[in-house]
Amino acid sequence: MLPYATVEEAEAAIGRSLTAAETLWLNYSATKSDYFLYCHNIIFLFLIFSVFPFYYLFLEFFFKKSVGPYKIQPKVKLSFSDTIRCYKSVMRMFFLVVGPLQLVSYPSIKIIGVRTSLPLPSLGENLLQLGVYFIVEDYTNYWIHRLLHCKWGYEKIHKVHHEYTAPIGFAAPYAHWAEILILGIPSFLGPAMVPGHIITFWLWIALRQIEAIETHSGYDFPWTLTKYIPFYGGPDYHDYHHYVGGQSQSNFASVFTYCDYIYGTDKGYRYQKKVLQQLREGPKTNGVENGALSDHSAQGYKVD
Ligand SMILES: [Zn+2]
Ligand SMILES: [Zn+2]
Repeated sequence: MLPYATVEEAEAAIGRSLTAAETLWLNYSATKSDYFLYCHNIIFLFLIFSVFPFYYLFLEFFFKKSVGPYKIQPKVKLSFSDTIRCYKSVMRMFFLVVGPLQLVSYPSIKIIGVRTSLPLPSLGENLLQLGVYFIVEDYTNYWIHRLLHCKWGYEKIHKVHHEYTAPIGFAAPYAHWAEILILGIPSFLGPAMVPGHIITFWLWIALRQIEAIETHSGYDFPWTLTKYIPFYGGPDYHDYHHYVGGQSQSNFASVFTYCDYIYGTDKGYRYQKKVLQQLREGPKTNGVENGALSDHSAQGYKVD
């Protein structure tokens, strides 16, 4: 709840005129409790988990021919009913774990100092903080994910997320409840280190989930703007992690590629890229054996 009820009071408190965005924020949030504002995350996550994967489902069903060339594992076909089953599982987990986690994690948001007041952060401040959140989450998620690939972690927890060897957008949040709780920690670390405004926090949670849906979409579209982000992994990068499956010791990072490069866990992926490149150019070029080529291509990984 804001400590001022009118524009005049707010302007007197911050010593300047409010911007249009600040006036809008004041009108919306002045009488709402901080807890209520924080809980907006539940609505946002519900909408993101429901709407964004439908975009890919819509393209797959109505523009099959146009988007077909960009499907990463074209030979894998998931029926509509299987897709809906995945969505239902995600929603069950949403109401049993994700939603309640948001409801009870409010004190941590207060402790780390996420604010709801005016002035609103500038665009530059927003971008800088979001950049820090993504980098911090990516690094910590890399190590937790790598740990989840040890025998015990994989068998008991992470195996659920790997049920989809050719992931789809709906499968981005499809995971064991323990994994959802564990991976909540990296998401909070960035805001804990550099606390900002609740709008920045909303944006962070929303963008991270949209990014996860894109990387699990199963499509590598050339027109996605994320391709312009330096060291961004993207769908092809994470799809390989699912494609290799349980034995996967490759491509652990959630957003960027540099952790896997630094710690040498992208070698399988880079080798596979090299093989597919050579497959495009001709089977016997650059010393790659026919056997290796047919082994990869037989499993239906995108060549173009
Ligand atoms: Zn994994
Ligand atoms: Zn995944």
